[in-house]
Amino acid sequence: MPFHQQPPALGNQYEDDSVLRSYLKRTLPREMLNEIEPSLIEMGRLAGGDLYRMQLADRINEPVLTQWDAWGERIDHIELTPLWRAAERIAAEHGVVAAAYEGKYGSNSRTYQSALAYLFTPSTDIYSCPLAMTDGAARTLLSSGNQSLIDRAVPHLTSRDPGTFWTSGQWMTELSGGSDVGISETVARPDGEGVWRLYGRKWFTSAATSQMALTLARPEGNGPGGRGLALFYVEPRDDSGRLQKIKIDRLKDKLGTRKVPTAELTLDGTPAQLVKGTTDGVRNIAPLLNITRLWNGISAVSLMRRGLALALDYANRRTAFGTTLSAKPLHMDTLAGLQSEFEAAFHLAFFAAELTGRSETMELNEDRTILQRLLIPVMKLTTGKQAVAVASEVLEAFGGAGFIEDTGIPTLLRDSQVLPIWEGTTNVLSLDVLKVIGRDDRALLAFTEAIHSLLEPVNSPGLLEAKATVRAAVEHAVNWLKIAKGEGESRMDAGARRFALTLGRTMELALLINHAQWSQANEADTRAIVMARRFANSGIDLITD
Ligand SMILES: Cc1cc2nc3c(=O)[nH]c(=O)nc-3n(C[C@H](O)[C@H](O)[C@H](O)COP(=O)(O)OP(=O)(O)OC[C@H]3O[C@@H](n4cnc5c(N)ncnc54)[C@H](O)[C@@H]3O)c2cc1C
Repeated sequence: MPFHQQPPALGNQYEDDSVLRSYLKRTLPREMLNEIEPSLIEMGRLAGGDLYRMQLADRINEPVLTQWDAWGERIDHIELTPLWRAAERIAAEHGVVAAAYEGKYGSNSRTYQSALAYLFTPSTDIYSCPLAMTDGAARTLLSSGNQSLIDRAVPHLTSRDPGTFWTSGQWMTELSGGSDVGISETVARPDGEGVWRLYGRKWFTSAATSQMALTLARPEGNGPGGRGLALFYVEPRDDSGRLQKIKIDRLKDKLGTRKVPTAELTLDGTPAQLVKGTTDGVRNIAPLLNITRLWNGISAVSLMRRGLALALDYANRRTAFGTTLSAKPLHMDTLAGLQSEFEAAFHLAFFAAELTGRSETMELNEDRTILQRLLIPVMKLTTGKQAVAVASEVLEAFGGAGFIEDTGIPTLLRDSQVLPIWEGTTNVLSLDVLKVIGRDDRALLAFTEAIHSLLEPVNSPGLLEAKATVRAAVEHAVNWLKIAKGEGESRMDAGARRFALTLGRTMELALLINHAQWSQANEADTRAIVMARRFANSGIDLITD
């Protein structure tokens, strides 16, 4: 018999995920978990079964932009791929956005929704992108107090009915800059009939097929910078489906996220409505960014988990030098290192979801509110970097097959690579972290106190060394900041990334240790202890003096 190489296979992605299940057991009331578990099992079944098969079959399909019809009319129609069309329906029906807004489980609704998103994302080729913006738009409109826009859009954005479900775009980045949006050039003018009209070019607009978008433009006569911009609501198409004074110039030719129709747009009198006043657009769009950054972190851990699920399964199938890879100590040691990165990142991303949930139900005290402000950028930048590093190693764990397109494996690396770029690059978010700390002395204190309360219950002998690693890293970070502050702004700037990543990895380790202690005491499971010890030796303190 000739030798046949077996592809990796996936089982139920909820049932197989002991990290997710153990975490939910610790954080959710038992009754709630019993209630939501059938929907998680169903999403896990889809993600490892029908959706995964559909994803592999859809691999070479991409969205297609048709600018002109046969008779010379400009139509700018984007046809999505079959996987994405199915993903939209499944996302709506399973409440992947809605679960966070139905309020059924109070602040834990956000954890539930994040778990659904985590299971759904890796089998839908970054359909998480439009969902993240949809979720962020719903949150932004709700917090704007603009009742007519809330009534108009939020029921669609949070619908479970695919027939009425809307997604939203977020049009911020212009040619002049994605990080520096304060210099945006799009202008807004009232047309004399009570409608604002937008004129400008938007350089990166994913979800170009969405039914609405939130965007920034400068009302004519306003001053410069982010303060002079206003936040606008746009419905790109009229009731007959025609674009309203918008041209789709082209779709981007991208390294990854190739199912996402990321478009360049020209706005030439596009009708728009003010969301909240005629200024402070950058500040008013902040709720959207908090949500999309949370989604970025949840997506990062979900892609890491997918890579590991495939690599672990493959290790049991592939033989080399007489045994399966799973019997090779070095191969399994390599995967264990990746698993520890994933578990650490998982706890940070879901902790950010918990804080978001509590802020949405007004249950955060002042300290925790400041902590959330600090942790969202820290979490986004830390997990984004980890996702790329893990994906790269996952490819290698498949040997040559990991480099071959029709295995589907290379997509993991290409799609992960966007995570540190969009929604704020690593450097830009690191500077944000310094700004949060600079604006409010209590931010770093809230961070150190959160670490302290996570470590307090930990007394397992197997965790004491890791606990000391956390303490030393926090002390080093606090001292570095004191010294760097005295040495001026450029010293602070230059060290910002190392500082922010150190905060991220330190918080990850503290959360992992805390969970490991719980898991040993409540599940008689010492596996998380092994992971915490492993992670503690994987570079927590990255600050160089
Ligand atoms: C696939 C994809 C989809 C996207 N979809 C959207 C979308 O739907 N809507 C939208 O609005 N945008 C979208 N973007 C744009 C994205 O948010 C921006 O590309 C990103 O914010 C970076 O902005 P930029 O490209 O202008 O890079 P720049 O701001 O020019 O950054 C270039 C480099 O300089 C660094 N840098 C910048 N400022 C500083 C500083 N002060 N100190 C140190 N380093 C600095 C950055 O870290 C980066 O490494 C998308 C991008 C991609 C790749």
